[in-house]
Amino acid sequence: MAAALSAGVGYAGHRRAALTLGGAAGAVVVGTSVTGAGGWRWGIAMIYFFASSSLLSRLASERKQRAAADKFAKGSRRDFGQALANGGVAAALALARRTPSGARHTETTEAAFVGALAAATADTWATEVGTLSPRAPRLITTGRLVTPGTSGGITALGLAATVAGATSLGVVMAAARGHPRHGGQPNTANTARRARLVLAGLAGGLAGSLADSLLGALAQAMYWCPRCEVETERRVHRCGTPTKYRRGLRWLDNDAVNTACSAVGAIVGAASNQWR
Ligand SMILES: [Zn+2]
Repeated sequence: MAAALSAGVGYAGHRRAALTLGGAAGAVVVGTSVTGAGGWRWGIAMIYFFASSSLLSRLASERKQRAAADKFAKGSRRDFGQALANGGVAAALALARRTPSGARHTETTEAAFVGALAAATADTWATEVGTLSPRAPRLITTGRLVTPGTSGGITALGLAATVAGATSLGVVMAAARGHPRHGGQPNTANTARRARLVLAGLAGGLAGSLADSLLGALAQAMYWCPRCEVETERRVHRCGTPTKYRRGLRWLDNDAVNTACSAVGAIVGAASNQWR
């Protein structure tokens, strides 16, 4: 059933041009793992991430094409690498939940999952909404004004979207818990658990986004298009000109940065669950 649902979501995403064919395949791999091993609540959170990100991407796309399309390595259609970069850690946590160790620590695993997905949601929202900012972004490290779309550039609007995206993912997970049935957890315990899920979303999402911006500013591979004279994440610029390596670690592309963002979200989400 999880595979069928994921295939439906992947097909719809491809039809609506939110996913390439590879991206649809990635959605099936990630969606089947998350929903099949994690359960329906985890699947709902995954769909929330995907649907909200696609919607914001669509709303922002027109203005973004004018403002910042130059700098983005990939268009608004997500490919296989992006699907795994955004959902791979969440899928691994869902599978880990079925191991003996994961089963002994279900609440920690769940908080890590919420943190991972909150980080991906927060980062995607910040990217999509941040490019609509009327003010130019500032580099997170030096505060220098940079052109929209620059990795590591932040705006107040993008920061607000980060908080909103991170918190909302936690709220969706908390709301999906439903009401305890007769003989279930006492209400106070259920309320406390819900609060922890929201906290895991906020903490994991913020930390993941921060890591993403720092890596983007300090370490991500950036290239230079000699024809357009702009910095870009692309190895071949969209004008068709092969770009020249300029700075950063060559292997640290956007997918690697997004994977790190999600991993930091998972660690901080799990850690937030330990707070008393
Ligand atoms: Zn160019």
